[in-house]
Amino acid sequence: MKVAVVKENAPGERRVALVPETVPRLIQAGLEVLIEQGAGNGAWFPDSSYSEAGATVVKTDDLYATADIILTVTRPGEAGVAKLRSGQAVVGMLSPLTDPGLAAELARKGVTAVSLDGLPRTLSRAQSMDALTSQANVAGYKAVLVAAAAYGRFFPLLITAAGTARPARLLVLGAGVAGLQAIGTARRLGAQVSGYDVRPASKQEVESLGATFIELTSVGNAAGEGGYARELTAEERQAQQAELAAHIARHDVVITTAQVPGRRPPLLITSGALKAMAAGSVIVDMGASPLGGNVAGSVPGETVVTENGVTVIGAQNLPSTVPTAASNAYSRNISALLLHMVSEGGLKIDTSDEIQAGVVIAHDGQVVHPAVAKLLEAQGAGTGKRTEGDADVDRPGN
Ligand code: NAD
Repeated sequence: MKVAVVKENAPGERRVALVPETVPRLIQAGLEVLIEQGAGNGAWFPDSSYSEAGATVVKTDDLYATADIILTVTRPGEAGVAKLRSGQAVVGMLSPLTDPGLAAELARKGVTAVSLDGLPRTLSRAQSMDALTSQANVAGYKAVLVAAAAYGRFFPLLITAAGTARPARLLVLGAGVAGLQAIGTARRLGAQVSGYDVRPASKQEVESLGATFIELTSVGNAAGEGGYARELTAEERQAQQAELAAHIARHDVVITTAQVPGRRPPLLITSGALKAMAAGSVIVDMGASPLGGNVAGSVPGETVVTENGVTVIGAQNLPSTVPTAASNAYSRNISALLLHMVSEGGLKIDTSDEIQAGVVIAHDGQVVHPAVAKLLEAQGAGTGKRTEGDADVDRPGN
């Protein structure tokens, strides 16, 4: 069976789905590994490093013509999707709950779609496959470096002949995977760090990293299902924003990471809270999205300086800016999942397996993932192969 790694084509994407180090593991499992010319360049893995590891470097058209399984980091672009054919499989982070249209399109083409973002994250045997966690770790680390680079002072306490600099006061809002990594990284840089989250369980995790946990009196337990947060009510949201504003004003640097699955990121820093911050303060909004982020006025991929001198950085694909580390981790995740799903030289789809039930989105001409199928139904789109008389199905969200 031929497993092929495509060159990512999303703008600015520098990661690659498989790094040379992982190639021998797949070959040992009886798989043949193909790599599209130049696929590893952005992460500093030249074609020669793949050939030395036992992979075959091929041109784009040859790859699509011969591959059985195509590995990607993010969603394949239109040109790639057009080249896919029935019986092939695509494995990557396909964001089917953000835009289920791709899943419907792959199902119609008879392509099996496997998405790492659907992995059951609390299952211990799936931890080596958890790409959301590995990439959030990279992002949390980089967010602190981005903040430090934009901040006009030092992070650590520095005592020099030219004077003493007090440590930066840094606040992390949202203490999940990325937030905890940001806390650890900021501590290592010498900042005085505080953390906050709506899940009470995060208090101990924040404190175990040597940071101070901020408890709000106005918002109670907002732990939701599966270790995630639930969406706050409108009253809770307002109370949270108001109470947080006083804490935010006391900090020099704020990193926000708050997310609620399937919802737009919650607004934690209002324009009022921004106005109360001192000139020279820096915010990195890791929740920045085209629908709005954790910070009023933040724009993904852009840096905005407010009238009162607060730099608001809208993060965009931070893992791609640490491409080698992010690819190394992702490569281990995707190969662990692949080896879990391959048996007797082929991909064995079995959605009675808890891991596969989470990641298999489309198979045998149907969107088989219940949550994705439900979303498509709600959007009025079909979930399976086009039969005669079916109307054209638009790709929702595109
Ligand atoms: P996420 O990216 O969905 O959200 C980031 C953080 O934002 C979360 O901690 C969430 O509680 C917080 N948040 C949401 N709304 C907020 C609000 N209004 N105010 C403040 N904070 C808010 O989360 P994640 O980083 O993917 O992790 C979610 C959970 O999954 C965590 O409990 C994590 O420990 C758990 N997890 C467990 C495993 C495992 O068991 N192997 C693996 C990965 C993650």
